[in-house]
Amino acid sequence: MTAEAIQNKLFINGEFVDARSGETFATTNPATEEKITDVASAGADDVDAAVRAARAQMEPGSDWQKMKPRDRAKILWRIADMLSARAADIGRIETIDNGKPIFESQYVDTPAAAECLYYFAGWSGKVTGETIPIADNAFTYTLREPVGVVGAITPWNFPLMLAVWKIAPALACGNTVVIKPASNTSLSLLKFAEYAKECGLPAGVLNVIPGRGSVVGNALVDHPGVDAIAFTGSAEVGRGIMARAAKTLKKVSLELGGKSPNIVFADADLEAAARGALNAIFYGKGEVCAAGSRLLVEESAHDELMAKVTERANKMVAADPLHPKTRLGALVSKEQMETVLSYIEAGKSDGAKLVAGGERTDIGTGKGYFVKPTIFDDVEVDHRIAREEIFGPVLATIRFKDADDAIAKGNATVYGLAAAVWTRDISKAHRIARSIKAGTVWINSYNLYDPALPFGGFKESGFGRDQGRDALEKYTQTKSVWVNL
Ligand code: NAP
Ligand code: MG
Repeated sequence: MTAEAIQNKLFINGEFVDARSGETFATTNPATEEKITDVASAGADDVDAAVRAARAQMEPGSDWQKMKPRDRAKILWRIADMLSARAADIGRIETIDNGKPIFESQYVDTPAAAECLYYFAGWSGKVTGETIPIADNAFTYTLREPVGVVGAITPWNFPLMLAVWKIAPALACGNTVVIKPASNTSLSLLKFAEYAKECGLPAGVLNVIPGRGSVVGNALVDHPGVDAIAFTGSAEVGRGIMARAAKTLKKVSLELGGKSPNIVFADADLEAAARGALNAIFYGKGEVCAAGSRLLVEESAHDELMAKVTERANKMVAADPLHPKTRLGALVSKEQMETVLSYIEAGKSDGAKLVAGGERTDIGTGKGYFVKPTIFDDVEVDHRIAREEIFGPVLATIRFKDADDAIAKGNATVYGLAAAVWTRDISKAHRIARSIKAGTVWINSYNLYDPALPFGGFKESGFGRDQGRDALEKYTQTKSVWVNL
């Protein structure tokens, strides 16, 4: 038994249990194509048990409701400390399940999850109502109450971190959570549940129920005992969830996909912009909702920037995700790799110019779903690779003439998750930041996150914000109390 012994059962009411049906599904390591373990596959009856456990902790007099907000905060803080102390263990689990470099899972994602818990621990007990003067014969005030049982559904690209983005604010506000991780990557969240239990989180407050998206997702969304659905994933599934949640009128928040423009002006520090462009698209193998998948370059800087970007991309080599020096890992699954390769074919057939990568690669083992860092030049806004989210290491480069053209092309997408602008002209930078319809705009940087800063989408990238004070909106509801004097 190693320190990171795998958890592969459902976590319901504080216990690791098999699915009632006994069903399991295999999860594989995409870098080796080998099965890691069989994971318990929840059915509607398991979802019901998890929701009942979560509901019980929302009842007056339950351990969770009796607990002072500051004591809730202490538990969140302890979990964060434990995540920090065991980042190597849980990071390793994340890496073998997802294919991302250990550099990311151990040193970026897990610390980010811990920071999120520390941040929201600080909010516990500080989400307050107001007293509102309205008339001489009245005393009126508001209470910010938890919404109740939160049903969360999360994707496979940042399995631990994105789950914690929902769990931390929900628990800080006094809610309980039933969460379904993505089937490709359920293991890190099950491990997290083990840590949470060890840190004294009362049974039933957090329940983790892996299983098929349609089965567990539908059961969660339909369940009358669930008060709100917090979803991160694709626009397609998000749309279905929203329609389905209408039946029980649940509060829904959706964090969806993106096709984010990374806009480089000729007056930028092109060395920094080139590094930024690579980080924007190749970090996390491009399986990043906010990936800078469209590089918009001012005509006059085009040749110089592209020379820098392609030179660096060609030096990025996929390697064993468990090696600490690896910066490019395996795509999450065969299916995802095939999707990415089919977009590369679409780029070619639409007439874009392939200037780097463009094919599957391997790391000397003959195994694994690795794709070379791929760059297309001379992409037009109507090409498929400029319009659709690829969710892989494929960059579409588009030229622009001036700031107006950059804004028009930047906004030529149904999505609005993120954007960046590179320039030394501060007024231009802020003007562009205002004009781009996106939930996050970076200036002279890319892919920077902090738990204090709200993150979420405009347009078809969804609504509701994870992180920051804004996240508290999703997990609280306001009650007005009127006392007749
Ligand atoms: P996905 O296919 O939408 O899956 C997301 C989650 O939904 C998974 O847990 C999945 O379960 C579940 N699911 C599938 N079908 C469902 C259904 N009918 N009802 C309820 N749940 C269902 O997305 P993905 O491929 O995992 O992730 C990639 C997408 O997530 C991209 O579009 C990306 O941009 C987006 N994303 C957005 C953000 C953000 O913050 N805005 C962050 C990261 C990713 P199974 O795994 O069992 O199918
Ligand atoms: Mg896996």
